[in-house]
Amino acid sequence: MPISTPELLDELSVADARFAHAAPAEILAWTFDRFGDDVAFACSFEDVALLDMIRRVAPRTEVIFLDTRGHFPETMAFAQRLEDEWGLNVTRTLPGADADPWPCGTQRCCELRKVAPLARAVAGKAAWITSLKRSDAPTRSSMRIVHWDEKFGLVKVNPLATWSDDDVAYYLGSHELPEHPLWSQGYASIGCAPVTVKPLVDGDRRSGRWAGADKEECGLHEA
Ligand code: SF4
Repeated sequence: MPISTPELLDELSVADARFAHAAPAEILAWTFDRFGDDVAFACSFEDVALLDMIRRVAPRTEVIFLDTRGHFPETMAFAQRLEDEWGLNVTRTLPGADADPWPCGTQRCCELRKVAPLARAVAGKAAWITSLKRSDAPTRSSMRIVHWDEKFGLVKVNPLATWSDDDVAYYLGSHELPEHPLWSQGYASIGCAPVTVKPLVDGDRRSGRWAGADKEECGLHEA
């Protein structure tokens, strides 16, 4: 069970500063060296580049897929395909019945279909990895690479923090990796189907998320 001691917080601050210009592979190597297999990756299956990097260094890493019951069929099929083809160690979380009364687009829906299931899935882990990038949105522009995640009570590692969409595209192309099938249809950031449309603003990948709702984040990455 991780505890945020002053020594650990100092260690994370030093690591965060050290990784300011580091490649994701270096950050991942430190993560698995430091925390062993006590690490989980919260994967949307849009983040194939990072999933590929992780499977190369630690193939049995627990991959947590938050099944909200609202994903596109294409997302579900693609997740199953990669799990099978790559032999991934996937844990699928499901919402409880308490989520039923809360419609998509409400904060309570994300809390019960994403935040609470993730909290249960990472309980007792030392660290979790995300594919967040500072370039994703203004709300993420100053996020740290390594830090203590007060909300879930473990270390949070963002190896792609300094990457751009072009960096991801280059990695996918140069490694001949499959892409989420909806990308080829014009979608650019894919969440639950009821609130995901193609980008509404040119150049703003996430402008098609929570269309029509007063939301920018699902709550997983807010303090
Ligand atoms: S995106 Fe919509 S359906 Fe998915 S968890 Fe959030 S509010 Fe619910």
